[in-house]
Amino acid sequence: MTIEQALRRHPLPRLESRMLLMHAWPELSHAAIIGYPERELPEAAASAFEALAARRLAGEPMAYLIGEREFFGRDFKVSPAVLIPRPETEHLVELALSKADKALPMRVVDLGTGSGIIAVTLALEAPAWQVCAVDVSAEALAVASGNAGSLGAEVDFRHGSWYAPLPEKARFDLIVSNPPYIERDDRHLAEGDLRFEPRGALTDEDDGLSCLREIAAGAAGRLNAGGWLLVEHGYDQGEAVRGLFLAAGFMDVATEPDLAGLDRVTVGRTAG
Ligand code: GLN
Repeated sequence: MTIEQALRRHPLPRLESRMLLMHAWPELSHAAIIGYPERELPEAAASAFEALAARRLAGEPMAYLIGEREFFGRDFKVSPAVLIPRPETEHLVELALSKADKALPMRVVDLGTGSGIIAVTLALEAPAWQVCAVDVSAEALAVASGNAGSLGAEVDFRHGSWYAPLPEKARFDLIVSNPPYIERDDRHLAEGDLRFEPRGALTDEDDGLSCLREIAAGAAGRLNAGGWLLVEHGYDQGEAVRGLFLAAGFMDVATEPDLAGLDRVTVGRTAG
């Protein structure tokens, strides 16, 4: 099988075939694909490519097949133990960076860090900040700390549920989270990439608001005066989440639409 034959062999977008081919044959450069399409694949690369293509045709997400996904301009390793980074989450990161002075040693915690994209990006974009990250999944924390290590981010990782693993006296200036917010019976859970992602990272197995409720209820007691809480949520949960923030005593509560104009992130601050 030649490079060109491999790229045409399966009913996959050419970009996906090319990414799988480069993953199956790590020495292959982009220039070689363009310049030498008649080159024969070594046997090991051909069989690795065929196996990857079959898995892709069966629906497995590209990010899991190649083991990485770009977020905020950096490559993060991902595995089926963590959610695949979404572009919407860059909006949460941008808002977090806009809420506090990047030059000051703000204390920040990312609840439910998954692959670590939020915590690691904040630590790299605002090196003065002291970033902590929590996850209930030890497997996810291993992925996140691997990402922090390879990208050179200093993050204090803690294993447990939401606020539980944080030192009792720790107070933060910023709490950020992209928690599981899909409703238990949402049909999207049975579609596309979501079928392959960890269910516990997607849904609260309830009304979609139970994690957001717990995070909002616990946040005020963990924030310094004037500290911010920022959460990502579903496009139709803005009003409900603002209600949770107001019930928890937050001020300046607002939902910030994403680039598509959809409700995605709700913010609020404590008095101070
Ligand atoms: N914080 C991670 C992300 O934004 C994981 C989120 C999750 O697992 N719900 O992708």
